[in-house]
Amino acid sequence: MPQAVKWVYRFDEVQEAEARMDGDWDRVRGLLGGKGANLGEMTRLAVPIPPGFTVTTEACNAYLEGGDTFPDGLWQQVLDAVAAMERATGKRFGATDDPLLLSCRSGSKFSMPGMMDTILNIGLNDEVAVALAERSGNPRFAYDLFRRLIHMFGSVVLGVPDDLFEARLAARRAAAGVERDTDLSGEDWRAVAATYKDVVASYTDHEFPADPEEQLRLATAAVFHSWNGKRAIDYRRAAGIPHDLGTAVNIQTMVFGNLGPDSGTGVAMSRNASTGARELEGDFLLQAQGEDVVAGIRQTQPLSDLARAMPEVYRQFEQIAKDLETHYRNMQDMEFTIERGRLWLLQTRDGKRTAQAEVRIAADMVEEGLITKEQALKRVKPEQVEFFLHPQLVRDDSATVKPVARGLNVSPGAAVGVVALDADTAERWSRQDGRAVIMVRLETKPDDVHGMLAAKGILTARGGRTSHAALVARQFGKPAVVGVSELAVDLEAREIRIGDSVVEEGQWVSIDGSNGEVYLGERETVVPDLRNPHLLQILEWADEASRLEVRANADYPRDAETARDYGARGIGLCRTEHMFFEAERLPIMQRMILAKSASERNEAIAELLPLQRSDFDGLFRVMDGLPVIIRLLDPPLHEFLPSHDQLTEDLANLKMRLQQLHSMGEIDDALDTIQVKRGFLERVRALRETNPMLGTRGVRLGILIPELTRMQVRAVFEAACTCAKEGLVVYPEIMIPLTVDYRELERQRETLEAEAHSVMSEQSRQVEYRFGTMIELPRAALTADQMAESAEFFSFGTNDLTQTTFGISRDDAEAGFLAHYVVKGILPDNPFDTIDPEGVGQLIALGVEKGRKVRPSIEIGICGEHGGDPRSIALCHRLGLDYVSCSPLRVPIARLAAAHAALASDEPTA
Ligand code: PEP
Ligand code: MG
Repeated sequence: MPQAVKWVYRFDEVQEAEARMDGDWDRVRGLLGGKGANLGEMTRLAVPIPPGFTVTTEACNAYLEGGDTFPDGLWQQVLDAVAAMERATGKRFGATDDPLLLSCRSGSKFSMPGMMDTILNIGLNDEVAVALAERSGNPRFAYDLFRRLIHMFGSVVLGVPDDLFEARLAARRAAAGVERDTDLSGEDWRAVAATYKDVVASYTDHEFPADPEEQLRLATAAVFHSWNGKRAIDYRRAAGIPHDLGTAVNIQTMVFGNLGPDSGTGVAMSRNASTGARELEGDFLLQAQGEDVVAGIRQTQPLSDLARAMPEVYRQFEQIAKDLETHYRNMQDMEFTIERGRLWLLQTRDGKRTAQAEVRIAADMVEEGLITKEQALKRVKPEQVEFFLHPQLVRDDSATVKPVARGLNVSPGAAVGVVALDADTAERWSRQDGRAVIMVRLETKPDDVHGMLAAKGILTARGGRTSHAALVARQFGKPAVVGVSELAVDLEAREIRIGDSVVEEGQWVSIDGSNGEVYLGERETVVPDLRNPHLLQILEWADEASRLEVRANADYPRDAETARDYGARGIGLCRTEHMFFEAERLPIMQRMILAKSASERNEAIAELLPLQRSDFDGLFRVMDGLPVIIRLLDPPLHEFLPSHDQLTEDLANLKMRLQQLHSMGEIDDALDTIQVKRGFLERVRALRETNPMLGTRGVRLGILIPELTRMQVRAVFEAACTCAKEGLVVYPEIMIPLTVDYRELERQRETLEAEAHSVMSEQSRQVEYRFGTMIELPRAALTADQMAESAEFFSFGTNDLTQTTFGISRDDAEAGFLAHYVVKGILPDNPFDTIDPEGVGQLIALGVEKGRKVRPSIEIGICGEHGGDPRSIALCHRLGLDYVSCSPLRVPIARLAAAHAALASDEPTA
């Protein structure tokens, strides 16, 4: 007979789950969910956990696949496990003498705030409530539990809207003449429970189930079901969690935080989730149960108050937090309840945190000996480094700019946008209208996640550091300020009030999630610098771990400075044409293009020489000791002239104006301008090409106008010699763009090296240099062996190489069909964001192989925009490149990605 499937694991059976999963903890988490695995693990660690059991994710999947029916044997196993809890606690489920009450929570492998979470107090009905009221001598307590059960069960399992319950509760408060729930009596709560049952009956046409077993069965099925709820699916999509994992269900003995002044409940992080500092932080409430703390309905107390209120319990909690951190080697997010002075842990999991906190915790935990440098590196994701680039509000100390309110700074960074008061509006305004939106709510719930994802930032009136808004905001790197008590949200009038100020929906506000400040209006933002000491430490370790070097694409000394500051190991691409577009230079460049004779042209080129020399001089100084790759002129010449359409229009306008002019001076000026524009137009017509991207550009210009590239090389070497004489160490690398045949390279090398040598001998100074080429056409990659005869380095220009391999122009494709292709899955990614591994990647691989065969020492990198993309960086690592070059601001991300690539390739492949 085949062995019956084990669907249920008691918390004290975690080793059985581990044995079944061959000791692989990741698979145990897959089976029991993160929460269940941790409850088992905590039970094993002798942390005080109320007894309970986990129904596996396999059971969930079997239930969903089986058309919403429990698989064979599941229910009996649940009942057996409940019986075991009865034995462990001495209480009985559904009994009136000493009733066992249960909680039921979802728990998938990855924490998902978008899913159904918790039902408490399962096992109560009229009789049990009466008995509990008598036994505890506290009817208030018993009926408060009962009405919570009916509300949670009604809302979560039966889909009864929350406000139906809330209206009944408000009515009872009014009838009793009290403002706060805590002032309601036992009799009030009994009456509330009774009306709640009416709400359920009238909304669902069924009585609230009185049978505890039935309650448990329906609750378990509802958790399974919630796996495929819209919120859960949306959340998984956004967080990249696979849809086939299923959720586990955790059923546990209830303990009570609302049994009197020495009872309470709270949530805590073992370190500060915003900054990563080593300090316990959290919120708690005395006389409270379960969701009260995170729901933000009552103002919570900071955990530090617990140290004063119950020092012994606090010390015990502190020790448990420390032990759990040491065990899991990660920051923990814990829920606890204190029942009559006794501490119980309800769950622990790795805490969600900001990017800053992730970086600091990773660096600190290495120092503390808890994790290795490699583990720290793997923990920090490139997107988290990217977060350091997020904007901050520009400091403005003028008296007029004052925050209108302060709340909790739960997710750093500044956000500026128009107020949207619900998730659908936030999503619509952001996605359809492209507006920057701040989503403002009283508090957020899982239904709000799609709006939160679409918003630039989140602002709530209620909630603490561990509220739903704070958790979701932190996870998705959205700036957020929560718990702003001065904030009132008026959904009827579609406006918010902060103190005396009224802001209508659609008007601007600015928030600073780093310090919790809220401002009216649209404030200016800046991107911060990356000099966070913990980040610098992580990046230093990244450099030790990686094999790929990271260089930067920088045209100006100030960009080069940023790049060097951020850890670039040289310049991988200086696009020299950018300098020619500057206001003072463009006219000279245009003269060069329009020149009617060689001498006129040479004159213009000679004027450009000192300007270029000073450009390169600046770069060499910043990059002292590091290589600087200078690419010779690349774009088609017409780009330096006004457009054909513009010139035609200007000329037509000028001719019209001419007829209205009277003074000779004005007429002469206009005629001169017409003359110049005609000259431009004539030249533009002559240079006009149907496909300029595939026309006279790149090395072709160097071949046609050798004087120009020779001038550029002269400028490079004059600057290099000057710097070298001053003791700087310079490594210029001259790069030829858009080469398609080795003969182009041979010709250019001959001309340009002659120029380089003549400068060096004029200057009586030798500098080490390299001569190389970009590989940005498929033919160049296919003939890389021939290219390598002349080239001492290759730099793959993956922007052009992608265009020419796919035969598409980037601008046309991105404005046109590309998005459609990606949405329909015809292309997995935009190939201009991530290198296409199958096509372009193959050409790079071939280029590397052929190049190295002829010249083993050849230096190879990439300088297209892919150089800052982590997946492309991983590909470059696998293909054995020497470096990637990216924009200066992406250098830190690329350094970490290069380390990740190296660490991944060290791992044995399965
Ligand atoms: C490239 O083609 O990848 C490249 C770096 O050159 P550009 O983007 O200047 O064409
Ligand atoms: Mg290019």
